[in-house]
Formats: sequence, C-alpha cells, structure tokens
Amino acid sequence: NPENCESGGSRILVFVRLRPMAKKEKEAGSRTCVKIVNRKDVYLTEFASETDYLRLKRLRGRHFCFDAAFSDSTTQQEVYATTTTELVEGVLQGRNGSVFCYGATGAGKTYTMLGTVENPGVMVLAIKDLFSKIRQRSYDGNHLVHLSYLEVYNETVRDLLSPGRPLVLREDKQGIVAAGLTQYRAYSTDEVMSLLQQGNQNRTTEPTRANETSSRSHAILQVVAEFQIIESGKIVNRVGKLSLIDLAGSERALATDQRSQRSIEGANINRSLLALSSCINALVEGKKHIPYRNSKLTQLLKDSLGGPCNTVMIANISPCNLSFGETQNTLHWADRAKEI
Ligand code: ADP
Ligand code: MG
Repeated sequence: NPENCESGGSRILVFVRLRPMAKKEKEAGSRTCVKIVNRKDVYLTEFASETDYLRLKRLRGRHFCFDAAFSDSTTQQEVYATTTTELVEGVLQGRNGSVFCYGATGAGKTYTMLGTVENPGVMVLAIKDLFSKIRQRSYDGNHLVHLSYLEVYNETVRDLLSPGRPLVLREDKQGIVAAGLTQYRAYSTDEVMSLLQQGNQNRTTEPTRANETSSRSHAILQVVAEFQIIESGKIVNRVGKLSLIDLAGSERALATDQRSQRSIEGANINRSLLALSSCINALVEGKKHIPYRNSKLTQLLKDSLGGPCNTVMIANISPCNLSFGETQNTLHWADRAKEI
C-alpha cells in the first residue's frame, strides 16, 4: 500500500539496496524476483520479469516502500550520498550517527560498506567526505580523526586492526569501550582503503571455508573526529562519532554436520541482532530502560544509538529467485524498522 510510504518524523531512515545478479547465477539460469520502481518501491514475486510490472502492482502483500530503494545499477557514490552524507554533516555538528547494513550472506553488505579499490563503499567515502568537510571548516586546520575497527563474533570482541586476544568491554567516562582497542590516527583517505581491507581480512572465517568471512561476524568501524571551530567569536571544541556496521548475515544458522557448534553461534548472532532490534524499538518508543546490556553489539553501540543520534539502515537484498525466502525476511525486517 503506497499510503504508508511517508517516512514522517521517523528517526530511522531505512533504505534497500538490490545487488546485481552474479555471473554464476545468470549462467545457472536464475531469474530475478525483485523489481524496483520509482526509486522507492520494491516488488517481490517468485518471478519478477521485466515486463509484468502491472501484474506486480496487483499482487498484494509483496510491495514494500522505503525512504529510497537502490536498483542494481546504483553507484556506490549515489548510495553514500543518499544514506550517509547527512550523518557526516551531523558529526561536524557534534552529533553521533550510525549506519547499519543488514541482510543475508551474499546480499551485498560488505560491498556496500567496504567496497573495492575501484568502487569504494560507504566506509571509505564517509571518511573522505569527513576529511574534506573538516578541512574546509576547522579553525586553524586543527583536527584529529581516529579510526577503530572491531569484530563481534560469537559474543567475543576482537580488534581488526591488531588481531590478537579477545578484548574486554569496560565502562569508563566516555561510555563502554573495548580495553586496548587500536585507535588509528588517520591523516588522509589514501591509507584508509588498504587499512580497512586488511582489517576485513582479519575477520573470523568459517572453519569449513577458510577464505570466506564468517557470516556470523559483525564488523564495526568507528570514526571519531575532533576539531575546533569558531562560534560567536570563540574557539569551541567539537567531537563527533560515526559508526559504520557490517552486520552478520541475517539468515538462520543452517543445520550442518557441525550442528551443535553452529547452533550456539547462531543463537549468539540472533541474540545480537535481536538485542539491536529491541534497543531501537525501545528508543523510538521513548522507553526509559534500553536493553543495551543484552549483547556485545548493543553495548558497543550504546552512545551511537541513543541520545542526539541519527540512525540509518541499509537492507541488502539479492535479486536471485533462489534467495526469495531470505529476501522476503530482510524486506519484512526493514519494513518493521521503518515503522518504529
Ligand atoms: P555480504 O557481505 O552481504 O555477504 P558481499 O558484499 O560479499 O555480501 O557480496 C556478495 C558478492 O556480490 C560479492 O562478490 C560482491 O562483490 C558482489 N556484489 C554485492 N553487491 C554488489 C553491487 N552492488 N555491485 C556489484 N557487485 C556486488
Ligand atoms: Mg560480508
């Protein structure tokens, strides 16, 4: 129903990004089950061919509408500009912000967040934008940009910039911090892509598929900018933080030969994703008690979810008819996130 398309005063902006059909999927004769119309309407059917848009319109219950929906030809720059550039602006005003990529494994979360050298994603474009905006405005050119990049895997926190033993979460004046986490001082955008690519390679891999990042790993990049501006003739310090999160795969843990181990891990992932959903719910409903303590992910993002903060969700989906169920789940989740 297009009536519920107004985003209203919602504090959470929800976007959907469709990835292109992979070569392998094409060769296997896969068909597309998603169609994006008017840059915000998403139609999901078992087979959404190019020509049956009118028929799609008549299908009930499988039409979704978001703040924006990006088709498979949308560029990284366009995704960045629509979803995140305002949050970077907020950081310069001293507000924290966060961007989450949510979706099944293979749906394009890491591509959206990190991207490639040729097509850098939101993380790299945000840092680039931040540098150029700070340089334009900061008093005397004085500024500090620190990056930290960590992983939550199976409710264990690890430093992706300096892999080693698990980190302990501690509460101090600044909030909840991972003790000993590397704070990398960045001077330019050039160094950032390779730094983050290396960090991404340090994410936990599946024991069975050694080169693939585990679908159960959440990666969190936090960028803290400190600088001075002149306000009403006075020098004022500003600090803002942007959190960019490549969430674990949203699909259910599969039953395999390693069932027992996997189900423990799966439960923890669901716990983190569930905790995230309930915190966002509680915040938007104005509840006094926000259940941050329920997972490592929400503890770490405490100061980026509450208070004067902006939150953006990007739901990544695959066009492939074989992923129909996962795509449907992701769209339903994103639709709920939009309502709150
Ligand atoms: P996820 O992190 O959600 O598991 P990936 O980001 O690794 O998924 O994407 C799966 C594959 O699809 C990768 O090979 C990636 O390069 C490719 N891909 C994803 N999104 C896009 C896109 N928008 N354009 C081109 N290739 C993409
Ligand atoms: Mg990934």
